[in-house]
Amino acid sequence: MVAKYLREPGVEIGAFLTPIPNIKPYYVDRFESYANQKTLADYFGDACALPFQDSSLNYVAASHVIEHVANPLAALKEWYRVLKSKGIIYMVVPDRRYTFDRPRPLTNVDHIIEDYHRGVTQVDGTHIDEFVFGVDWTLFSPATSPDKVEEEKRTMADAYRVDIANNREINIHFHTYEPESMVRLFEKGCAALKLAGKIKILEVLEKFPSNNPIGFLIVAQVRKPWIEQLKSSVAKRRATYPLRQVPERFNSLPRVRFEWKTS
Ligand SMILES: [Zn+2]
Repeated sequence: MVAKYLREPGVEIGAFLTPIPNIKPYYVDRFESYANQKTLADYFGDACALPFQDSSLNYVAASHVIEHVANPLAALKEWYRVLKSKGIIYMVVPDRRYTFDRPRPLTNVDHIIEDYHRGVTQVDGTHIDEFVFGVDWTLFSPATSPDKVEEEKRTMADAYRVDIANNREINIHFHTYEPESMVRLFEKGCAALKLAGKIKILEVLEKFPSNNPIGFLIVAQVRKPWIEQLKSSVAKRRATYPLRQVPERFNSLPRVRFEWKTS
């Protein structure tokens, strides 16, 4: 799958300890280390703020990332920006039906469009209760003894609220996805972005990858009008390629409260 679609140069966002095999991307992460483990980060950035020039990359890959993004359409817009025309978005997304998100409702695409228009950032408390009280805690935190679960939920929700009150970014599964809802997000959501070009889905594969089949794969292709391509090639001649200045907000790395496990 990777060989069919991904040609360097590209970026993988948030690879942490499980990078996508058989590619040699620039690694972008929000953290230098996470839960006492070093990330692969070549550059700091995140899904919504990538340190690359416009139209500079052949692919953006992100596995188990988009559910952590509070404003997924802002991320798609950013991915569109850094991709060349015919560049590929390669995204593995946990399927709500097979993860600890199972008891949570499926996020409505209109809600995500609204998040985009509201300019939602990672400092967003909208989904704290739905996440903390909605996930299946036997899967989310198997180590927590059943008689402690209710107390833990309250402690966790309160801690997130303190973060939000202090303008700190939080790390939860903001939204839930299934293959069909993601396809709708690409169709309806991308129309809301009013891009000069298009993002077209090429492939949807359920139960992907086979060694951790709790997710699905979306492969999509960006098409840009020639004028947009031309503008970015002029800009590129003037700028250092492909490194762009690290966004201001990454100078102090936000702290996080849970580590999402793929097993
Ligand atoms: Zn939301």
